[in-house]
This record gives sequence, structure tokens and C-alpha cells, in this order.
Amino acid sequence: MTAKHPVRPKDRFLVFGMPPIEDEEIAEVVATLKSGWIGSGPRVSRFESEFKRYKGAEHAVALNSCTAALHLSMLAAGVKPGDEVITTPMTFCATVNAILHAGGMPILADIDPVTMNIDPEEVRRKVTPRTRAIVPVHFAGRPCAMDELMAIAREHGLKVIEDCAHAIEAEYHGQKAGMIGDLGCFSFYVTKNVVTGEGGMVLARSEKDAARIKILGLHGMSKDAWKRFGDEGYRHYQVVECGYKYNMMDLQAAIGIHQLARVEKYWERRSQIWRRYTEELARLPVVLPAAAEPDTRHGYHLFTLRVDEKNSGISRDRFLDAMTAQNIGVGVHYLSIPEHPYYQGALGWKPEQFPNAMTVGRSTVSIPISARLDDADVGDVIEAIKRVLS
Ligand SMILES: *Cc1c(COP(=O)(O)O)cnc(C)c1O
Repeated sequence: MTAKHPVRPKDRFLVFGMPPIEDEEIAEVVATLKSGWIGSGPRVSRFESEFKRYKGAEHAVALNSCTAALHLSMLAAGVKPGDEVITTPMTFCATVNAILHAGGMPILADIDPVTMNIDPEEVRRKVTPRTRAIVPVHFAGRPCAMDELMAIAREHGLKVIEDCAHAIEAEYHGQKAGMIGDLGCFSFYVTKNVVTGEGGMVLARSEKDAARIKILGLHGMSKDAWKRFGDEGYRHYQVVECGYKYNMMDLQAAIGIHQLARVEKYWERRSQIWRRYTEELARLPVVLPAAAEPDTRHGYHLFTLRVDEKNSGISRDRFLDAMTAQNIGVGVHYLSIPEHPYYQGALGWKPEQFPNAMTVGRSTVSIPISARLDDADVGDVIEAIKRVLS
């Protein structure tokens, strides 16, 4: 399927998910290095404040990943060994691993094949007396059916921890993603909508949860331990829990502060790319993502195509190879969680138990939608898809 004349020159491979990095964050990183304070300090506090302002939130804790944010959110939500936590099979492994790290038992509820988000009816069927929490993932930036999920949570007294790794900008019925449930977890990993290299954030509805997460994220040391090397004189700290090393550094926050200032500009750019793909790929033999639901705001983190031999004339895996041969980087988000050997072996899961997630996971392809792409890049992606499908 390799074309004789690749669309893009060989030296210009379009890396999937490459983040835009601009001069302000480069200068801030240099200033941070020169300041001598590169660990957790004033820039982390500023990043937390600005993130709170952007979301209109009261309590935020910056951490070194969304995985850490999810793990500590489970602990703050009171997930204990033996507790069940319901989540989706169409997510990154970190969502499920965080439940296991907290000692909980992940229980999968299949997705709606159109939205690719967890299906509230499936969640309802999975609730037992041991259920402690629900972890909806706003897949690709599309908010989950939160009205229905929150109703189930209220009915059964469950905590809700939103995995907002794709969905910083998302809104649902006038509410912001990550502020609908009890806790919201965000990722600033290199491919996400706002990047810090590695990084994460938790938004907490309650001050108590935020305080516990802050302590657990820095060895279990009592509040403000980072000040101990500051200019206010030496302070003793106390270890009050057996915590983790999950704190964000000022070096990371230095990038995040300037990335966050452009979050809406980048969202605007991705929404333009989304519209162009929707128009120009409309007549091809692939299934495009559904339009955003009314009264919601999509985060436009991933643009997915469903490719299968029957409709598209090429298998998904051959499509991936053919796009790479055209110098276009592509991704798969995601093979459903039960496709992975660990979960099959340790938990006995089989892909067939979650048929919608299995089918999507075996046919989905993510094409580049980074705000870094210029119009010519987007044109190259479209041309490559047309060639591969012709
Ligand atoms: C990226 C991602 C995570 C993990 O984020 P990290 O910051 O890399 O730990 C969790 N959940 C989902 C859905 C993700 O896409």
C-alpha cells in the first residue's frame, strides 16, 4: 500500500501529538533554572492558582502526572481494599491501574459505541453493595453523560472521580469537566491539550480532600513542607501519613503557566482542524466521530476514524502502516483494556465481555489534531487518508 510518491517528504514525518512549545515557556524554564529553585515552589503555586482561575475551581493540587492524581483521588475518596470502582474499558491503562494501586477492584462497564463514553445503563447494572466510586473518562474530550452518572452516584452514595486527561476545556450542561463529580484529574503529558512534559492536577470539591491529596503527594509530610528551605528560617516538618513522591516541580509548572494561558487559543485551532476533517473526510468509507451533543463543549483532544476491512477495504492495522509509510504519525486510543494480557491473567477479563469497546478498539485510528499543525499539515493528513483508502 506504500505510495510511489509519498505526500510528505521523508524528512518531515508528522509526529502524532506533537505539542506546540513557544518562546514564553522556554524563557520561563531558563528563568526557573537560573533562580536556583527548580523543585516544588512558587511557580507550582502560581500554576495551581491560574488553573483554579481558568476552571473557576476552589481547590487544586498540582502533581507529577494524572496517574498520580487518579491514585490519590481514589485514596481521598476512601477506596479501600475490596471496594469496587466502576470505569470504562475504553481508556488508557492508568485509569484502571490507579484503582488497583489503591487496592480497589476495577469493574468495567461497556461504552456507548457512538460517543465511545461509558454507558450509564451499563454502570447501573454493575453497582453492588461493594461499589465505592465511579470513574468516568471524558473520552477524546467528549463529556460523559454526567446527569445520568451523578444520579446513579447519588442514589447509591458513590464518589465520582472524573478522568479529564483529554478534557481540560470540556463542559457539560453548563458545568466544567472535573467539577461535576467529587474530584477531577487532569494530565499535562506531552500529547495532551496543555503540556508540562509530565504533570497532572486534581480539582477537589472539598478542602479536606485537597489537603489530604497535597499531603499524600509529598511523602505524607504536613502542609507547606516545601517552605522548609525558604527564607523564613528552618522549619521542622512532620510526617503524618505514609505518602508518595508525586509533587510537581517548578520546572514543569514554568511550562504549564504559559501553556495554560493559550489553552483557549489551542482549543480554537483544534476545533478548526476538527471541522476541516469533518468536511473533507465526510464521503470516505470510514466512520467519523459523532458531532458534539447539544449544550456540551467538546475538548477536541482526539479525532478518531473507524476503519475496518468490510467498510473501508483495508484493515485497521494495515491502515496504520500505510499512514506511517505516507509520513503521517497515527495513534490508537485505545485497544480496550481487556485486550491486555495483564488484566486477562490477573482479573480474568476477556474483550468479548465488553463488545462495544472491543469493536471500537479493534477499528479505531487517531489522526493528528495538535494545535501545532498548520493548514498544509492538515492537508497532508487528508491527502494521505484519501490515497490510503483509494
Ligand atoms: C494520559 C492519560 C492518563 C494518564 O496521564 P499521565 O499524566 O500520563 O499520568 C490517564 N487517563 C487517560 C484517559 C489518559 O489519556
